[in-house]
Amino acid sequence: MSMQYPEKIWHNGAIKNWAEATTHVMAHAIHYGSSVFEGVRCYDTPNGPAIFRLQDHLKRFYTSAHIYDMPVPFDRAQLTQACKDVIRANNFGKCYLRPVAFRGLGGFGLSADCPTDVAVAVWQMGEYLGQSATDTGIDAMVSSWNRPAPNTIPTGAKAGGNYLSGQLIAREARRLGFGEGIALASTGLLSEGAGENLFLVFDGKLYTTPVSAAILNGITRNTIMVLAKSMGIEVIEQDLPREYLYLCDELFMCGTAVELTPIRSVDGKKIGSGEPGPLTRKMREAFFGLVKGTAPDPHGWLEYL
Ligand code: PMP
Repeated sequence: MSMQYPEKIWHNGAIKNWAEATTHVMAHAIHYGSSVFEGVRCYDTPNGPAIFRLQDHLKRFYTSAHIYDMPVPFDRAQLTQACKDVIRANNFGKCYLRPVAFRGLGGFGLSADCPTDVAVAVWQMGEYLGQSATDTGIDAMVSSWNRPAPNTIPTGAKAGGNYLSGQLIAREARRLGFGEGIALASTGLLSEGAGENLFLVFDGKLYTTPVSAAILNGITRNTIMVLAKSMGIEVIEQDLPREYLYLCDELFMCGTAVELTPIRSVDGKKIGSGEPGPLTRKMREAFFGLVKGTAPDPHGWLEYL
């Protein structure tokens, strides 16, 4: 996919031209995957552009860095400002933000104390998997790759290295003609999608896999849980066996990039009627109402520029 690069990027404290935000080929992160990052969406709302749950994304950013002992030389207030500044510098409204911190140049070896580089990129992004995927649902497959076992690579950190697992899962799915791959945990129980959390519907209740199932504790997942509870819909976090994917009434995945995308089949088996089900549609409506500022925002999750 070709991409038209935006004009400006925030890098180590300053807004720069895109082409000037470079790093050395010997930066630690290139060799060892030592980066942490976030994906955040900004939506157009009736009151102007608003970044959705920016503070929660930044909290997770610092948590990921903390797990890897990576000092981040900018505090949350500074990165909040950086996110807003880089959107304004590019004259964007609706867009996708990518804060990233990584071990840069400054020594050799795994435990080298390299200085941390920090950047915030921003670009325009519509539906991650295309409009028809979000409207009609995608065909998913269970990946032949498992997510990392507990106490190997922490899936609770949103670190660059974790996305080697995601790449194996997503690329296998695309190669075989599926819209997305779903991974099992090392236990053989259900984990999550390559870059998305999962919700299954049984008898009008929502089920999602727990943080102990090698998932990233998604902010969209939490948003859906909070929204569902406020709508009187029961949400159950529990381990689920693979075959529940084939048995559920409805299935959808969620994440900042895919937002809330229905899944219409898994491994060639139709889910429910094969169309987005009533609870999926209800949750989509509630979710988009919230992020686009057309429904009340009781938690103050919309952060205006
Ligand atoms: N799981 C993985 C592996 C992800 O990469 C993402 C995307 N960040 C998610 C789940 C969803 O997380 P969020 O809703 O916070 O974007």
